[in-house]
Amino acid sequence: MRKVLLVRFGEVYLKGLNRPYFLKRLTDNIRHAVQPIGGHVWLSDSRIYVSNAEDLEECARRVCRVFGVHSVSYAYELDKNWEEIVSACVEAMKPLSGTFKVLARRSDKTFPMDSMTMAGELGYEVLKSNPNLSVDVHHPAHKLNVEIRDFAYVSVGEIPAVGGMPLGTGGRAALLLSGGIDSPVAGYHLMRRGVIVEAIHFQSPPYTSERAKEKVLALAKILGEYGGGMRVHLVPFTKIQMEIHEKCPDGLGTVLMRRYMMRIAERIARKNHAQALVTGESLGQVASQTMEAIGCTDAVVHMPVFRPLIGLDKLEITEQAVRIGSYETSILPYEDCCTVFTPRHPNTRPRPDMLEEAEQALDTEALVREAVDAAEVTKV
Ligand code: ATP
Ligand code: MG
Repeated sequence: MRKVLLVRFGEVYLKGLNRPYFLKRLTDNIRHAVQPIGGHVWLSDSRIYVSNAEDLEECARRVCRVFGVHSVSYAYELDKNWEEIVSACVEAMKPLSGTFKVLARRSDKTFPMDSMTMAGELGYEVLKSNPNLSVDVHHPAHKLNVEIRDFAYVSVGEIPAVGGMPLGTGGRAALLLSGGIDSPVAGYHLMRRGVIVEAIHFQSPPYTSERAKEKVLALAKILGEYGGGMRVHLVPFTKIQMEIHEKCPDGLGTVLMRRYMMRIAERIARKNHAQALVTGESLGQVASQTMEAIGCTDAVVHMPVFRPLIGLDKLEITEQAVRIGSYETSILPYEDCCTVFTPRHPNTRPRPDMLEEAEQALDTEALVREAVDAAEVTKV
């Protein structure tokens, strides 16, 4: 009898003919997560198992952060021998009290006992061994799971994991990553849907400091820990901001700046085979996030722009940031390039023609190309 982790995956089940591809990706990602601590991963009979002689709990923590994993359970793996199965069930239920139910499943039809009979017999044996338990088939406090496959597996309860889709199955996107609370959360949502995310950060030295850059790299690192690390493109943005500030109407400054960010981000995304942009915007949160302003921003890009936080309140986004682990870093003090030249009275109802007119004063193509060419990439 040895202890293993039994890994459950949710939506991957729905993938029909593509299921082997999704499963392989998921298995590889889990392997990647536990290999540094000596975890061993295998796929058998469309279940994923993990074993580790040293530290199964650390394995469970790591597996629970792999996108595509729905939940994990600690399970006993044993030979398909009835006496052994009974003693594993008794052992697993020994520390528990309250109500329980047995869920038995026989994949291996050569096993002599059918699922119903097995559930009944095992329930009886467990009740006999532990007087603190009673059966409730409708709302049990504990579920005792018994599966007969290549081996027999006995487990109680499950630990919820991050869910979503395996990283790498959803394409590639470029995240506009500031040092704030919102954009890391937005990036997380895309990653959770299987998308490989690269970050693009605009910096405005000397108005923004080296420390602000370190903070953004730290945020990218936190996201990258959910799998695969993260590439960060650092883009110099001072010149564009200065030009906007000097040559364009003050009230349009923020939206103009955002249009340049999007143009540059789209070029960098295409160069790196990303198919979409992601931002942390939420409708109405600030002047540049009104429907009109967002419309003006989108007017300059020709790829999908995903805004996974569009309908969330700041409080909800903050709660998610805490859960993801980015909040503590996001609230460190820093200066963002957006805050440097914030207009006193931003226009909350801009129209594309107003912006196009304002941009006549700038050599857009040259500014964009210069910024794209000067971008530096690092991997965290
Ligand atoms: P966040 O908390 O993500 O900074 P915010 O509420 O401060 O968002 P804005 O500063 O208006 O809102 O930025 C809106 C979005 O624009 C951000 O979520 C991010 O995707 C992008 N963005 C803003 N500043 C930068 C920057 N310096 N580099 C890259 N992207 C940025
Ligand atoms: Mg911000």
